Amino acid sequence: MAEVSWDRLKASELRELAEAGAVVIIPVAATEQHGPHLPTMTDTRIGFELATRAAQKAYARRPTVVTPVVWSGLSEHHMAFGGTLTLRPSTFLAILDDLVSALLRHGFRDILISNSHGGNQIAIQQAAATLALETTARVVATTYINEAADEIAAILEDQAGIHHACEGETSMMLALEPGLVASDALAEAATPVVGKSTSVGKGSYRWRPFGSVTRNGTIGDPTRATAAKGEALLDTISDALAELIADPETWADA
Ligand SMILES: [Zn+2]
Repeated sequence: MAEVSWDRLKASELRELAEAGAVVIIPVAATEQHGPHLPTMTDTRIGFELATRAAQKAYARRPTVVTPVVWSGLSEHHMAFGGTLTLRPSTFLAILDDLVSALLRHGFRDILISNSHGGNQIAIQQAAATLALETTARVVATTYINEAADEIAAILEDQAGIHHACEGETSMMLALEPGLVASDALAEAATPVVGKSTSVGKGSYRWRPFGSVTRNGTIGDPTRATAAKGEALLDTISDALAELIADPETWADA
C-alpha cells in the first residue's frame, strides 16, 4: 500500500508527488472535550484515520497525500467543559491560508480540506471561497458528516447522523483506540438529542455554548456504540471520501 502520510515521506518523494499532480488532504479537526467517556483527541484521531484510508483507497486512480492534522479548530462553544483548546476564527483561517500557500509553492494545486469537527464547517467553506478568489489553488472543503450522511445513517441504529461523543463517534473510537474509551462512563454520558445548540427559529443561527443543549458534554447515546459499527463507519466514510477525491468532476474548472 502506498505511503500517504506527508510527514513520513521525504522531500524528494513529495516533489515527485507534486509533479504527478497529487491531491493533498489537509485534515482539520479539534482538541476538545468529548463527554466523560472519550479523549480530547477524538475528532483529530477520527479525522486522520478517515483521511489516510481515503487517500489509500483513491491512490490508484489519483495519487493523494495527507498532511499532519490541524489539531485545533473552532471550539469556543466547548470551553466551559474544560479540556478544550481553541483558535480565534481569524487564526484558523490564517493557518489554512498559509498552509495552502506553502502547498502551491511546492507545485500542488488540488487541495481537500477534510474536516471532522462540526464547529469548523462554516470556516472551511469560507477558506475555500477566499482561496478560490485569491490563489490558483482548487480547494474543496468537506465535512465527512455531510459527505457520507447516507452511509452513516445506514449504519447507526439510534441516531440518523453524527452528533457529539455519540453512538457514531464512540463506535469509531472503540474501533481505533479502545483503551481510551471509558466504558464505565457510557451510561451516565447518554444525553437526548434535542437539536443543535446553534439553531433558533425554523432555520436560523445563533452562536451559543454547547452547555445550552447538554450538561455533560455529550449529545447522543454512546451505550449504543460498538467497535464493529465503528469499523463499518470508518470503512464506508473513507470510501465516500475516496470517491470525492478520485472523481474528476470534483476538480474540474468549469
Ligand atoms: Zn467529535
